[in-house]
Amino acid sequence: MKSHPLFIACAAAALLSVTTPAQQPTSTTAFTGARVIDGTDRAPIDNATILVRGGRVVAVGPAASVTIPAGAARVPLAGKTVIPGLVNAHGHVGNTVGMEQGHYSAANVTRDLKTYAAYGITTVFSLGDDQAAGIAARDGQRTPTLDHARLFVAGPVLAPKSPADAVKLVDEDAAMKVDIVKIRVDDNLGTTPKMAPEIYKAVIDEAHKKGLRVAVHLFYLDDAKAVLDAGADFIAHSVRDSPVDEAFIAMLKRRNVCYCPTLMREVSTFVYESTPSWFTDPFFLKHADMAAVDALKQPARQQAMANSKSAQRYKAGLEVANRNLKKLSDAGVTIAMGTDTGPPARFQGYFELMELEMMVKAGLTPKQVLASATRDAAKCMKLDAELGTLESNKWADFVVLDADPLADISNVRKISAVYVAGNRVP
Ligand SMILES: [Zn+2]
Repeated sequence: MKSHPLFIACAAAALLSVTTPAQQPTSTTAFTGARVIDGTDRAPIDNATILVRGGRVVAVGPAASVTIPAGAARVPLAGKTVIPGLVNAHGHVGNTVGMEQGHYSAANVTRDLKTYAAYGITTVFSLGDDQAAGIAARDGQRTPTLDHARLFVAGPVLAPKSPADAVKLVDEDAAMKVDIVKIRVDDNLGTTPKMAPEIYKAVIDEAHKKGLRVAVHLFYLDDAKAVLDAGADFIAHSVRDSPVDEAFIAMLKRRNVCYCPTLMREVSTFVYESTPSWFTDPFFLKHADMAAVDALKQPARQQAMANSKSAQRYKAGLEVANRNLKKLSDAGVTIAMGTDTGPPARFQGYFELMELEMMVKAGLTPKQVLASATRDAAKCMKLDAELGTLESNKWADFVVLDADPLADISNVRKISAVYVAGNRVP
């Protein structure tokens, strides 16, 4: 919604008429003076005012058109650039300690949501391994006091053994109230059996009957086409075996299916053949799991990765993925920024910022990449009614940067502050 002067006047009047203690006019906060990239197609707004109340945006617009109510708290942001909080359409939470998985707990879920938020990722869609604690975190986050990343969940990654089993597992997912169903259709470079078409068809049909969408992990173009044919709703990784073609593009566009590149997932499969440059970046080290960092520096582990055939194949796959991303973006397919962070050696938060840089290196403009990581990711995950842009009535999730990321995408690293529901992330 545009910040129409009449709307602002009405909003301000409404604020002043409220008398309950929890909603005094002083509970409005005005963020003033920044350049605001609101995530819509609107041009950046210089010297903008963002009004926030009850965790949500009340108004965004040029200072001259937004009336700050008397008694509002003020946060001066002159010289800064504000972007919507970043949305990771493919992460994982709560499960990893050091280089080990299988440590799912409420405490680890919260830990991960804090880490994501510290890097400006204010929403993460977890595509698998989610348990009750993740559901509880999701159900508890619709509050104006939230100060870590928002979470949406897929539940367990389903691996049914038969169509009947598929129906049963999807029904369990539905009973658990997941936000999406997740499956893998992949043979892990020829090393494991791939889910049979009659099984993933049963998953997709049952999910749709239950009103759930299905996200698919895949690697091969032929599988991508086959799952789209079967009704899949979200492509959770890049196609990495061969160049995408017109038929695939047409299939994605016909049903508006989004494509999630997860380029950093590929990087993580081979980069630790030596010590990556970012292991000395204080911005990385500030929130990194040092047990994982230390393990990944061990020469024996690095040597094993250097000698790993699969690492070398995924390294080649990344080049295919980069070209496919550019081709799909040019063709008008909606790209949802996602990384597949959360498993060991895939560092949450920092990797999302690297993903944005990689997307630019693949040929997208900073504007396209920012859209992919905000509005488009939110749309792709059906979160756009409340997230993804800075507009009236949406949650006040945003990142304050010291420089404009449209000029240089690496400026997303220059984080001055992160806000979730208008609360500064500690
Ligand atoms: Zn994943």
